[in-house]
Amino acid sequence: MEEQNKPLLSYAQDELIAYFETLGLPAFRAGQVRRWIFSRKTDRFSLMSDISKDVRAQLTTLFSRPKSADVGFTPLLIANGVQTPVAADAYDSDDSLYEGRVVAKSLSDDGSEKLLIEWRDGRRVECVLLRDDRDHRTACVSVQVGCAMGCAFCASGLGGFARNLTKSEMLEQLLRLNALLPKEERLTHIVVMGTGEPTLNLDALLPALAEATSKDGLDIGNRRVTISTVGVPAGIRRLAEAKVPYKLAVSLHAPNDRIRDAIMPQNKIHPIAEVLSAADAFFRTTGRRVTYEYILLDGVNASVENARELARLLRNKTAIVNVIPYNPAPELPFKTPSNATVRRFVDALEGAGIQVKVRFRKGDKINAACGQLRWSLRDK
Ligand code: SF4
Repeated sequence: MEEQNKPLLSYAQDELIAYFETLGLPAFRAGQVRRWIFSRKTDRFSLMSDISKDVRAQLTTLFSRPKSADVGFTPLLIANGVQTPVAADAYDSDDSLYEGRVVAKSLSDDGSEKLLIEWRDGRRVECVLLRDDRDHRTACVSVQVGCAMGCAFCASGLGGFARNLTKSEMLEQLLRLNALLPKEERLTHIVVMGTGEPTLNLDALLPALAEATSKDGLDIGNRRVTISTVGVPAGIRRLAEAKVPYKLAVSLHAPNDRIRDAIMPQNKIHPIAEVLSAADAFFRTTGRRVTYEYILLDGVNASVENARELARLLRNKTAIVNVIPYNPAPELPFKTPSNATVRRFVDALEGAGIQVKVRFRKGDKINAACGQLRWSLRDK
């Protein structure tokens, strides 16, 4: 019996060709397999019908992790907050090339779907498919198991950091979300805004995004990919120097160091001025406008005076502010501001000449905020 290989999704195209050659398989087999995975949304070797049965069996032995052997594994379907156990093979099959398995799938009536995936080491991460009425089909992916940044408003930081995700684990999230869509639809956008700090795992993230954006990968446009960082200056500068073709979003969430220190401990190491200076370098090098994310927390950072201070901070920058009314998490003490508070905040920013977008919350009912589903199912 052949030994289990490293994950199929860890191979870039040329690496897969080279590996297949060592197995005595012709190069075109690698192209066939990748077409099934990326274009035809199939993770099951048994469905790759233009490949001979013998080769399919060989690939299954090399790359699949039989899941039916896991006695007592019961995945969940969560709809409208109600958890229903589903069959062990409802989300995954024994001949899948995926490394992980879906522990829970959560649906929202706004069309969002969240997956909680468990990896081979038992660690879990979340990823979300977001649909909107502009036909955007956006994947929000995680880059780490847990997060060390400890933002006070985020459930992902609860429980701390466990490890970085691999390139193949990130690609798997994207492919699984892509496969949730009907046959005629595909992912159009990627936001790297799930659990973890992207700039601390660029060695795995950038190869995963290269596959996601390549013509023979998921073929998602470079400008439709956004990397969102808490603001690690060295990481932002690395993205700038590499001239990555993606968009950059910086989680600012406060107009001054006093408030940011209180809700984002990372700010004590890299205060706002350092973060903005690195973001300016990204703009200068790439020519791409930076988005500043700003979660509105009632009574913390959402006053008109906070908005005016933020406007002063971003004056003379080519930037846009994404205002996000807080998505409540039962385990955290923060409150969502009223619509009137949001309106006053946005008006004050716009009045000061700042370009603003309000990102309305999606997926409240599916624990769509970072880390909430993982946290709510942690003991199960
Ligand atoms: S908001 Fe992002 S950086 Fe902050 S703790 Fe959550 S996952 Fe980490």
